[in-house]
Order: sequence, then C-alpha cells, then structure tokens
Amino acid sequence: MTIPALELNDGNSIPQLGYGVFKVPADETERAVSEALEIGYRHIDTAAIYGNEEGVGAAIAASGIARDELFITTKLWNDRHHDDEPNAAIAESLEKLGLDAVDLYLVHWPTPAKDDYVHAFAKLVELREAGLTRSIGVSNFLVPHLERVVAETGVTPAVNQIELHPAYQQRDIVDWATAHGIRIESWGPLGQGKYDLFGTPAIADAAAAHDVTPAQAVLRWHLQKGFIVFPKSVRAERLRENLDVFGFELTGAEIAAIDALDPLDGSGRVGSHPNDVN
Ligand code: NAD
Repeated sequence: MTIPALELNDGNSIPQLGYGVFKVPADETERAVSEALEIGYRHIDTAAIYGNEEGVGAAIAASGIARDELFITTKLWNDRHHDDEPNAAIAESLEKLGLDAVDLYLVHWPTPAKDDYVHAFAKLVELREAGLTRSIGVSNFLVPHLERVVAETGVTPAVNQIELHPAYQQRDIVDWATAHGIRIESWGPLGQGKYDLFGTPAIADAAAAHDVTPAQAVLRWHLQKGFIVFPKSVRAERLRENLDVFGFELTGAEIAAIDALDPLDGSGRVGSHPNDVN
C-alpha cells in the first residue's frame, strides 16, 4: 500500500492520508497507533492538548519503523503563544513523543482576542531553523489571520488545518490558501459523526456506484480535492476501511454533486468558530 505524498511549499513532502488521534484516550493511544502503523498508516496527527503524545511516542518506539518513513504532527496549545513559551512547549511535546524533531508543528488556534498568533508563528519559524520541526503551519486560521502572518513574518505556513467536510467547505480559505501555496488539511473530514453525511444522496449514490462505503466516498472526495486527511477511529476495521481509498476514483459529476452540498451559510460547521476560541 503506497499512500500518495504531496509536496509542501518548503520542499518537504507529506503523506496525503494519515491517522488523527483527537479524543483517543491516553490509555488506548499506544494500542490504536500501533494498530494504525501495522495496517500501513505512516502519518499521525496529534496535539499537546489531546493529552496522548506519550502514547503516540510509545507506539512509534515499539514499531521499529525508520524515523524518515514517518510523518508526525503536533500542535502548540492556545495558552503558550507568548514570549518563549513555544520553545518550552515543543520541548515538552518532543520529550513525550520520544523524538528529536517533529515533521510538522502547528499553531493550533489563532485565539484572536489575545492577538499573539503572529508572535507564535514567528517563534515557529525559529523552531524550524533550530531543527526541532521540519515544517511549520497553522490551524483554524481565517483569511485575515493568514494575511497577517504572511505579511508580518514574511513566511508562508506550509499548511492550514481547518474544519472541512462536504457540508462545510470553507471555500474562501481554500481559495486563498491555494493561491498562496498553502496546503489544506481537513479536520473532521467525516463531519465527526455529528453531521449526517453518510445518508446524503450525493454521497450515498457515489458510494454505491463504486461499491465502497459512504465514509470511503467522502475521504476520496477530500483526496481528489487535494486536501490532506487523517480520519479518526479506534476500531481496526475502520482504520483499514479509511486507508482503503486508493482503488477507485470519483467521477467529475460525483465530485460536483458533493461540492454542491455546502450551502455556504455556515450551517454545516460542527466545531467552534475560530474567533470564539480564545
Ligand atoms: P472525523 O470526521 O475523522 O470523525 C471521527 C469519527 O468518525 C470517529 O469518532 C468515528 O466514530 C467516525 N468514523 C471514523 N471512520 C469511520 C468510518 N469508516 N465509518 C463510519 N464512521 C467512521 O473527526 P475528527 O476525529 O474530529 O477529525 C480527524 C482528526 O482531525 C482528529 O483526530 C485530529 O487529529 C484532527 N482535528 C483537529 C482539530 C483542530 O482544531 N486542528 C480539531 C478536530 C480534529
């Protein structure tokens, strides 16, 4: 199983599909990540706030997989943007992960009321220069946040990780990011199970036409749109199902029907609005 890789704007490459461990309980993480690695996943998305970096690290250490075959992302939490806190935060994350460097380090939320996300991103630039992370990016950034970061640091993030699924496509951010060479990572790619994507005709019909599950059709839509995804599950059969999405291709008409599902009124959002997280 070869998972396609996408090139980032800094020349590094990222496996387009991975495994996200939000809400995987700390005491289940080593087992779940070990299973994912055994099945063939090589890209793991965690965060300091998930409280499970140690479990991710234990699974990596036990796997015997060469470090350069893995792509590990973690994130800087909201209360650590200021002063030299990002330096301390990444050191703690690396210690828990048992790694010398991560592949991607993200500012988790802009927390605009605190107005220190530009400083936080500037610190990430230093962390990359110090070799503690290979690539740097942001998460949950709206267009005005992206504009400020690029204008004030002179550095373009490699990715913006945002809530994105067929019912909530954030086209303004996707268009801006694409025009500036920023890759989009879709979090909640399956709508976190809170939005009934799987019963929606455009998705159910595409799934039936290709003899795949609705979840696989949705993941295929993300991949063909050029987005990076890391669906979460703690069940081995779903981990397998979510990885088994490279043997079929949605047609242009099927993609267009799924594109048409977002009324662009924000009603499909399942997570918090970035301006409200501070
Ligand atoms: P998701 O859309 O991947 O949904 C996960 C849920 O979908 C699981 O609980 C599971 O019940 C269900 N599911 C998974 N595979 C399925 C399948 N094949 N069939 C049916 N149901 C299935 O949502 P998520 O976990 O929130 O997002 C994925 C990852 O994105 C997270 O694990 C995390 O790494 C990241 N994330 C980032 C942020 C952020 O603020 N940056 C926020 C949320 C999530």
